[in-house]
Amino acid sequence: MADPAECTIKVMCRFRPLNSSEVTRGDKYIPKFQGEDTVVISGKPYMFDRVFSSNTTQEQVYNACAQKIVKDVLEGYNGTIFAYGQTSSGKTHTMEVSYFEIYLDKIRDLLDVSKTNLSVHEDKNRVPYVKGCTERFVCSPDEVMDTIDEGKSNRHVAVTNMNEHSSRSHSIFLINVKQENTQTEQKLSGKLYLVDLAGSEKVSKTGAEGAVLDEAKNINKSLSSLGNVISALAEGTAYIPYRDSKMTRILQDSLGGNCRTTIVICCSPSSYNEAETKSTLMFGQRAK
Ligand code: ADP
Ligand code: MG
Repeated sequence: MADPAECTIKVMCRFRPLNSSEVTRGDKYIPKFQGEDTVVISGKPYMFDRVFSSNTTQEQVYNACAQKIVKDVLEGYNGTIFAYGQTSSGKTHTMEVSYFEIYLDKIRDLLDVSKTNLSVHEDKNRVPYVKGCTERFVCSPDEVMDTIDEGKSNRHVAVTNMNEHSSRSHSIFLINVKQENTQTEQKLSGKLYLVDLAGSEKVSKTGAEGAVLDEAKNINKSLSSLGNVISALAEGTAYIPYRDSKMTRILQDSLGGNCRTTIVICCSPSSYNEAETKSTLMFGQRAK
């Protein structure tokens, strides 16, 4: 199958433009871009496979981050594209898709809201999957977009004082590609996971209490187990802690091994968010 040397994790970094409230507040635009792969914040350089400044188009980001993975999935490989960053940093904007979600470590079906706590099972090849999750058969891009819109309207949102409608769950969109050559009867299948992660901001900044605090701790825990899996893969460690969270368990056969993984680190360019941006960039550096 795949050449192991090809199984790399790519980490890209994208800065959105300053938004109107940041401009009104008089925030400074802090990133300085060097070449295609380095961004400097307060004199400290951070290197990635690619760095995208605020005027980069969706098409340029797609071509650099997704095109190759999509092609490989059509050739029978598995892949995952993640968007990581604080709330309002441009994760959803970058993915364009937003299905099931993981909220408080419970898996909810976004295409059938009556299914609120799905479980993870393993098939006969010991590949984990979400049991009972709705599957839609789609034949056209329009059908894909309709499915995405339906799932989006069912996403879980809670109010925090950081952002009124910040997404407090990870949303996972799985595209299963099955192809069969009718002449040779040769079958080819590949999976592509598109993962729009919950906001990575620290609990203290959102001023959360009670249930919202539990939620924030849970998000931090699942993001840190994802970070642990990715850095173990990047270091080539023998033991990869996939079982530490539901998300890493589900993604197990699309992370590492026969896989293509891209993480898009999304950042606000504003001086107001400097501390959060630095911690977001550090998360991305761990994966290198
Ligand atoms: P997140 O999913 O990380 O919380 P969003 O993707 O919802 O953030 O982005 C927050 C807001 O900023 C949205 O209104 C979005 O349209 C806008 N935005 C994000 N990234 C960009 C970009 N690169 N260019 C223009 N607007 C952007
Ligand atoms: Mg979002």
